[in-house]
Amino acid sequence: MKVPENKLTAKSPIEPLPLPEKVIIPLHQNIGAPCNAVVKRGEKVLTGQKIGDSEKFVNAPVHATISGEITATTTVINPPTGKPVTALVITSDGADRWVELDKSLVSSQQSAVKPVGNQQSAVGSQRGRGRGLSTIDYRLSTEEDYGLSALDSRLVLDRIRAAGLVGLGGAIFPTHVKLSPPRDKKIDTVILNGCECEPYITSDHRVMLEYGEQVLSGLNIIKKVLSPDNIYIAIEDNKADAIDHLGKLIVAMGFDFKIIPLKSKYPMGAEKILTKLVLGREVPIGGLPLDVGVVVHNVSTTKAIHDAVFEGRPFVERVVTVTGAVKNPKNLLVRLGTPLRSLIDYCGGIQSGVRGQGSVCRDRGAGADLRSPIPDSSTEVILGGPFMGISQPDLDFPVTKGTNCVLVKEGRRVKEQDCISCGRCLEVCPMHLVPTMLVRNARASRYDDCKKTYYIDNCFECGACAYTCPASIPIVQYIKVAKSELIKRVISE
Ligand code: SF4
Ligand code: SF4
Repeated sequence: MKVPENKLTAKSPIEPLPLPEKVIIPLHQNIGAPCNAVVKRGEKVLTGQKIGDSEKFVNAPVHATISGEITATTTVINPPTGKPVTALVITSDGADRWVELDKSLVSSQQSAVKPVGNQQSAVGSQRGRGRGLSTIDYRLSTEEDYGLSALDSRLVLDRIRAAGLVGLGGAIFPTHVKLSPPRDKKIDTVILNGCECEPYITSDHRVMLEYGEQVLSGLNIIKKVLSPDNIYIAIEDNKADAIDHLGKLIVAMGFDFKIIPLKSKYPMGAEKILTKLVLGREVPIGGLPLDVGVVVHNVSTTKAIHDAVFEGRPFVERVVTVTGAVKNPKNLLVRLGTPLRSLIDYCGGIQSGVRGQGSVCRDRGAGADLRSPIPDSSTEVILGGPFMGISQPDLDFPVTKGTNCVLVKEGRRVKEQDCISCGRCLEVCPMHLVPTMLVRNARASRYDDCKKTYYIDNCFECGACAYTCPASIPIVQYIKVAKSELIKRVISE
């Protein structure tokens, strides 16, 4: 499906957002088990210090993202689930004092990325030191140079887990779990996902341009762990500069990765779609790419893998696109836990009268009930893009690991109407489902029919059906409700 891209910030270099005075760190920011707090109220913490963890395998710990004091425990509503989550509040001491970073996995000389010439910083370890595109001269390197040949994969995975890494494209699945496929699943191909197909969002695009070496270094770490036969990097052709830049870096750094340019089309970046387009392999109903020998990772995730393994850096900040109806749209480097309000204010605030493409505020169910912090009832703040993003009514809600975009939309709010059987949702569904029947059965609580007759498990909630529906039916909301009811049944059985 071809949609207006509205990539307003594609050429905006990443800017560091000033450190907040307070952060709110939810203890559940991953698919899987929540963390338990490992610090108490009144305790002093350093930036990068672990403050929440779990014994469960499918979990990722959380860290203090500024130095200061744990001043409160609070509850926030987790947007994807709508469920309350415990969160720790840290009040800054203004010093941003870090824990000592453990670089012991890498012996003496090694920094995995080794540019030469008149560069400011090789690894971009200083905050906001993203790198530009021009006049970069890289030393050719071998795997030995990256310090990987001597590393034990188990130690690499431990370090990735300790850093609290999750899929940063929005999936928030713990990265160490994704890199630990069951023994009977041989992974022969890794696809690095640089598609970023949702309109408006440019955070991955800028990461590829400004942290390309780290992105490739992280991918090389995945190669070390999974030993695949092939590694492809999929990038949409609307990012010609990123294709060119990574192409040059691959040669300069001596890697054998292959870039696959893909047509700019929604939802090109979905794992199952990529697996089909790049390799011609169909993921089975309800299955995952690993069922057909494939693992897909996002470019920002591999950058974070590099930082964790070679720099010992916990995951405490990420790039967020702030766009739509704000005065100055930007790509910001943001400490996790920073309230959304700070990002919007830094971008000049919400700008009335700016109407983005498709600027109709859809009724997104309970989550769409806008509360006072958003000044205009026609304004909607979405975490993520216009297709898969989730309305966030509370601007004090914090940036979390999965926040790649804050999209402010203005437009008249529309109410759900009756289905007019136009068939548009069927035409656009990339999985060839029948969304209108999923809605009908979900409304009637016929969840078994959703599963057995209409293959709801194959829906990856891309939102294309809801986007195109002239009756403004929140199709994905109905699908999510049906899926969660089906999960509840499995749990209670
Ligand atoms: S049913 Fe809708 S949300 Fe699900 S895959 Fe099809 S178009 Fe995407
Ligand atoms: S697009 Fe909307 S109105 Fe048209 S058939 Fe699908 S659900 Fe019904």
